[in-house]
Amino acid sequence: MTDESKQSGTLDDDAESFNDRLSEIRDEDDNESETEYGILSEEYDSVNKDNKDSIDAWLVVSLTGVVFGLIGAVASPENAIFAFFAVGAIAASIVWLYTTPRGEQFREEIAEQQQQDATSTDSTEAKQVCPNCGWQNPARNNYCYDCGKKIG
Ligand SMILES: [Zn+2]
Repeated sequence: MTDESKQSGTLDDDAESFNDRLSEIRDEDDNESETEYGILSEEYDSVNKDNKDSIDAWLVVSLTGVVFGLIGAVASPENAIFAFFAVGAIAASIVWLYTTPRGEQFREEIAEQQQQDATSTDSTEAKQVCPNCGWQNPARNNYCYDCGKKIG
């Protein structure tokens, strides 16, 4: 073997292993993007389904708004435009609350908020009067909020 052929042999080997590695990387990429694509298309399907649900619901909401708006306008012809929007908006809001996923979410949030308000009112309702200055402290206070003396 001459030096030249030895060198070209090494180069061929290098090129071959390089190609092997390259196709391995490509395979890995393909696998990864297939998985990613699978996840993405699942997400897309679920988003699409939600959208379809809400589009149906929004159609109902809009139709209710228009129908009740018209009823309102007929019922009070002297303020027809005002009645149309006022009655339509109220009817649409109610339908929106009970038919759309977002409306449902909104109702849940309101209910949670009310629950939180109720519990926070409960905790502040119990008071203890400071023996030193007469300040009404929340029951959980260890020291008077006003004069700083130890209470409870
Ligand atoms: Zn005090």
